[in-house]
Amino acid sequence: MRLQVVGCSPAWPNPGGAQSGYLVEEDGRRLLLDCGPGVLPSLRAKEGWPRLDAIVISHFHLDHWGDLIPWAFGGLFGAGRDVQPPTLWLPPGGRETLHGLDPVLYANAVLELFEVREYEGQTPFTAAGFDVIAHRMLHYAIESYGLRVTSKERTLAYSADTAPCLGLVELARDADVFLCEATLAEPEPGIRGHLTAAEALDAFAASGAGRIVVIHRPDELPLPDGVERAYDGLELEV
Ligand SMILES: [Zn+2]
Repeated sequence: MRLQVVGCSPAWPNPGGAQSGYLVEEDGRRLLLDCGPGVLPSLRAKEGWPRLDAIVISHFHLDHWGDLIPWAFGGLFGAGRDVQPPTLWLPPGGRETLHGLDPVLYANAVLELFEVREYEGQTPFTAAGFDVIAHRMLHYAIESYGLRVTSKERTLAYSADTAPCLGLVELARDADVFLCEATLAEPEPGIRGHLTAAEALDAFAASGAGRIVVIHRPDELPLPDGVERAYDGLELEV
């Protein structure tokens, strides 16, 4: 399977960057993991209006799903009107969450456009023909899921947002490619929600994964020598 990093910025964009969006493709099947601000225009720059089979959202922080709203507007009223919308997989309770955001964000448009489904943690599901399992992560008080995508005995693990936790190591267990966040310079005080680079590398070492690519890292924070950092537009074979 092939991975394209559409956007990998943290909660604020890196210069010129899009927020979280990772496109997985194989045999013409196309799956997008998260859809943060900047992802839709990046996809549009290549193909007018994106034609995808499915989108899976890791959690409801805006930088991971915000472009679903303009996507819904364009699909209902604009340039995407003639394009079959992808199936949209949300975390548990996702429909209700979007309903609750409707008064300020018109989030019901998302429910109107997409065929919406909700996944459950630790329960396999199929999205765009890929086998997916969502592993619960540790991300402040919000329910956040890492996503493990498998096809033809190749596995991509995507941490989404998380602090150190056993679930992260399980998510990446023996994966071929591990997209792992490293948002922080130092561990944050109090309730944890993100990783430092050292913590990401610890999880990588414990997981037995083959390759780590660091995501969700502010441009201004360095990484140790030899550690691979994602960038928008990066393409790789999983
Ligand atoms: Zn988050």
